[in-house]
Amino acid sequence: MKERIYLDYNATAPIRPEAAAAVARAMEQPHNASSVHRFGQEGRKLVEDARATVAHLVGAPPAQVIFNSGATEGNNTVLHHFKGERILVSAIEHPSVLESVPDAERIPVTKDGIVDLDALEELLKAEPKPALVSVMLVNNETGAIQPIRDVADLSKKYGALVHCDAAQAAGKIAIDMSALGVDFLTLSAHKIGGPQGVGALVLGLCGITPTLLQGGGQEKSARAGTENVAGIAGFGVAAKLAAHDLPRYQQLEPLRSSLELELCKAQQDVVVHSQNVERVAGTSLFSFPGAASETLLMALDLEGIAISNGSACSSGTVKPNHVLKAMRASEDIASSALRVSMGWDTKERYIEEFLKAFEKIVKRITDKEKKATNA
Ligand code: PMP
Repeated sequence: MKERIYLDYNATAPIRPEAAAAVARAMEQPHNASSVHRFGQEGRKLVEDARATVAHLVGAPPAQVIFNSGATEGNNTVLHHFKGERILVSAIEHPSVLESVPDAERIPVTKDGIVDLDALEELLKAEPKPALVSVMLVNNETGAIQPIRDVADLSKKYGALVHCDAAQAAGKIAIDMSALGVDFLTLSAHKIGGPQGVGALVLGLCGITPTLLQGGGQEKSARAGTENVAGIAGFGVAAKLAAHDLPRYQQLEPLRSSLELELCKAQQDVVVHSQNVERVAGTSLFSFPGAASETLLMALDLEGIAISNGSACSSGTVKPNHVLKAMRASEDIASSALRVSMGWDTKERYIEEFLKAFEKIVKRITDKEKKATNA
């Protein structure tokens, strides 16, 4: 059987074997980390060890890490806390930010998909003063790295707190929460090779602990519900490996460059998004105007290659990609976008296989179109 190729790490990364082993091990025992008996104590140790490695990944003190079910929960937790006040969110945030506060004002981005700092300052100046600014560290579609330090400096100047969704940044770039100057940072384990359904909200030093779930004293009453000990243990192991593998992740850059070069050589009208700004090494979002991304995606899937036509959370709906819309891409460009995202286990030959399949499919589509026009 033909080898299946996975190039959709931004949707979810494969679980690292060491993380999977940690999950399996933890599940062998009944670990309620709040119980005082030996089983409980072992569970507590797994949780606290993981807290230390997750904290280390983002340069924060362990006591500031609150485990939860993932970045969707983390984002909702922070944004809900500020409901009723003025909130500014970048136009390219993940739906778990945009849809949890639909009335929030949108900070526009440049054509390259970078948050517009001048526009942000104008919004910050307006009265009443915003309570919170939410800008992601790395965009999940384009991979563009946002100027969070500048966002935080500006926001502080006008008295606003800052939330940063770092789900797509962890394991791809070094993160130092205090250097970034943010008050709330959200993470997801499955983007770094941990299990799905676990993540963390990391608090800065503003002294506010946004809380969504009540009804238990877990996580110092900041997040009620029996801890997902096995998931948290897997998250901890993945965080340790992700921190260790940061230099290795950067080695994806030449692979991405050759992918984009070959695409542009083969198809002259290919548009690579955010190509002129700093991006994480393993993400490429490009459009092939004239072909619907769904068609390309399905044809690639039949060839055994898994990529994405935008956020996995919104695929299945035929809504144009909100990130490309915010970048003022035309309808044609937005509806033909494909995302290749690589990670710790991506091999050079996967990209070669992708290019081969892509060229074959595009040729088939263009030949069909030619026949139709000649008919
Ligand atoms: N934020 C960003 C930027 C993401 O890419 C994702 C995952 N698609 C999320 C939040 C949601 O994370 P989770 O799956 O852990 O809820």
